[in-house]
Amino acid sequence: MNTEEHEMNYYFYLENYSLFFEKEGHFFVYNTCNGRWADCLARPDLRSLFTPFLKGINYAVSLSDETIAACQLRSFIDDVREAFSGDLIPAGDATVAPFLFPSLLDFRCENKKLDKKERELGHEVYNNLKEISFFLHPRIVPEYGVFLPEQIFYSKEPAPIVEGWQQVYRPFLQQLTISWKGILHIWCKNCNKKMWHSLWEEFDTVPAFKIVHTGVESLPPSLDELLNKDNYSYEVYVTDDSDEECINKWLLLQSQTDIELLFHRLISSEKEWENASEWTGRKQIDNVCLLPYYNGENRLFFEEHIYVKENDILFEVIKKKDIFARKMFNTNYFGKLFLFPDGQLYAHPADDSLGRISEVSLAEMVHKELSEGRSWFLIRDQKPCVSCRYQWICPSPSDLERVLDRPNLCYLKN
Ligand code: SF4
Repeated sequence: MNTEEHEMNYYFYLENYSLFFEKEGHFFVYNTCNGRWADCLARPDLRSLFTPFLKGINYAVSLSDETIAACQLRSFIDDVREAFSGDLIPAGDATVAPFLFPSLLDFRCENKKLDKKERELGHEVYNNLKEISFFLHPRIVPEYGVFLPEQIFYSKEPAPIVEGWQQVYRPFLQQLTISWKGILHIWCKNCNKKMWHSLWEEFDTVPAFKIVHTGVESLPPSLDELLNKDNYSYEVYVTDDSDEECINKWLLLQSQTDIELLFHRLISSEKEWENASEWTGRKQIDNVCLLPYYNGENRLFFEEHIYVKENDILFEVIKKKDIFARKMFNTNYFGKLFLFPDGQLYAHPADDSLGRISEVSLAEMVHKELSEGRSWFLIRDQKPCVSCRYQWICPSPSDLERVLDRPNLCYLKN
């Protein structure tokens, strides 16, 4: 190397849509625009060099030809450049790197607000509340220990409707004023004509948008009444045993009224999966969501068909804002509450109750979940995900992980 080359200085910088982190003994650069990766061994000499990246102080460092050669950085820099995640540019005589904003999210201000002893449980708390589910059925925990709403529709047993649910929910619904912009979910498996009227009578009083989750046999009483309900949509649960005639009637209703309708097809085995695929093709229904269902006995089905492989994870490009969101809270659960006719309110139906709505105010219960709760903040910060490079690339923990009692549904780590 001649003297001129020896004195050459560069800035090595990362684009602000790239993320730099250390996992599994490597430094990684992930490009949140194209999903491409670059990595190198996390050797001690590189750790001190990349301290500004690691600590989120600056996304630019000064490098010289000598350092690049000594630290064997050339191929890593080439990989970063090829992935459009950063660049190496001549710095002339300058020795101090310019400042480039690292990709950081500071959620501490929001958390500090919650720590204030004199905090007010005022209207601001409702800003965090996005969706509330009302069940007309009791919360019956199955033998394998985790209640999930779709259980009501999978079970062949009739789901009893709890007498007097109206009296329990009415005072609560009155709290959901016009300024609350969330969504109400109403869960009722077997709605007969009387129940549809009762349901509409109670929930019409709330201006929020409503989604009725119901069994396929629960056809609404009349077309005219359905046409009057423009702030409702319907999610209908279908199993292998569902009555084909009823499905056809729902489809007819949809074509006659333009109602928003989504079918959930519950699947608990390979055979049901095949039947569901054949069914959607034959009916040419595009508003179907296939919903894997754990019935306490079909763990193998999940292991063979639902667990993800590395290629599944790499397939999708994850945006920076989604990665930040997954670092801070559970994107499946945040802002959701579940209410049962015994008056118990839950941040997730599989967790402990936040309290009884007749005894504790809604604002206090939302605050309790924000400050102490684990459902809304159930993130991948436990083993084995905490040491995995895909910790924040993978979606937030979901219901399936809860029912299967595993922290990860993948083949990457045991
Ligand atoms: S689920 Fe956890 S262990 Fe599996 S790939 Fe995602 S982060 Fe890694």
